Amino acid sequence: MSNKNLHQRRLAATPRGVGVMCDFFAQSAENSTLTDVEGRQFIDFAAGIAVLNTGHRHPRLVQAVEAQLQAFTHTAYQIVPYESYVTLAEKINAAAPVGSDAKTAFFTTGAEAVENAVKIARAHTGRPGVIAFGGGFHGRTYMTMALTGKVAPYKKGFGPFPGSVFHAPYPSALHGITTDDAVKAIERLFKADIDAEQVAAIIFEPIQGEGGFVVAPPDFVAAIRRICDKHGIVMIADEVQSGFARTGKLFAMDHYADKPDLMTIAKSLAGGMPLSGVVGKAEIMDAPAPGGLGGTYAGNPLSVAAALAVLDIIDDEKLCQRADALGERLCATLKDAREYAPGLAEVRGVGSMIAAEFTDPTSGEPSAELAQRVQRKALEQGLLLLTCGQYGNVIRFLYPLTIPEFQFTQALEIIKNALKD
Ligand code: PMP
Repeated sequence: MSNKNLHQRRLAATPRGVGVMCDFFAQSAENSTLTDVEGRQFIDFAAGIAVLNTGHRHPRLVQAVEAQLQAFTHTAYQIVPYESYVTLAEKINAAAPVGSDAKTAFFTTGAEAVENAVKIARAHTGRPGVIAFGGGFHGRTYMTMALTGKVAPYKKGFGPFPGSVFHAPYPSALHGITTDDAVKAIERLFKADIDAEQVAAIIFEPIQGEGGFVVAPPDFVAAIRRICDKHGIVMIADEVQSGFARTGKLFAMDHYADKPDLMTIAKSLAGGMPLSGVVGKAEIMDAPAPGGLGGTYAGNPLSVAAALAVLDIIDDEKLCQRADALGERLCATLKDAREYAPGLAEVRGVGSMIAAEFTDPTSGEPSAELAQRVQRKALEQGLLLLTCGQYGNVIRFLYPLTIPEFQFTQALEIIKNALKD
């Protein structure tokens, strides 16, 4: 079957709303290599949108899922529980920076994790309000669309959204927004829009993912902590994209002195199997009554088996250290490239959560066109890159942290060539 033929069938059979980036179809994949139906190979720096920190089909993950397949695939945890769910919760509780007394509930998608974090915060506080940030992305369900701070394409034409959601700006040095601006905006919300005592949660990404890999300054995280403590608000860190070794630590919040009350996790948690979770302080997590949390497939046994393998792989293969080492090499390459690529305005990130932001060299305006040109040039040479950012002018590099050295070097060469062009 050719890519062209499949493309035609796709257009006829599926709605345009499910936008597709590539015009080739996957046949197989292993670690950081993806092969299409015509046998062409790509180095995969998209990793299924930050899902494959442990690579495609890591042998230990495959083995764990195969073993689970032979035992049982589904009981619905809320009907007949299984040990692996509890074991995974214990491990996440011990690892997540939310305090010593933690509990975890599992779901399926990142959006579902965020939905449930809001449910838990509302049940705990008995309050309606939620504050989120401009440029943030939290999912495609109704509550998470309301929380998302980018209109096109995520919210356009889909309203009305759930109420009691308010947005403040997220600090960004490049775009001239300081921590002080963000804090003042929250204080203004408390005066103009909602009483602080009616706010259940403040949700933020420690490093905005879809928003362009914008890193939260430590004083911003400290300010959120302070505001939450002052008013009894639940602080939720959305780690769906930043978790599981991507930033050089298991969680991005491990880089900060201030800790959240709840965290949402998904994506690389289960290395390609659908699984998400909310981890947080036990007294908050226990607020919803029995039956209030869950879902038919929530904490699916195959996905849980995969996640247990992922945690072992991250440990045994020292993927946090590898994230730092690979990220350093990528940053050095990108920073050198600023000499011959004047449109490359900023290189930023933590560990291997690295992005390059492009602006028009003459006007200084954000340039999605330049980012797309680099993305296209890289793809021509077999490297799959993703864009992001409020203006679509940022390229993010989401390679598996298990990528072989030679392939990473090859990818850096392709990136250099694409930037030179
Ligand atoms: N939160 C963040 C920070 C994300 O990056 C994403 C996905 N890009 C989501 C939530 C939603 O996850 P999902 O697509 O699995 O629902």
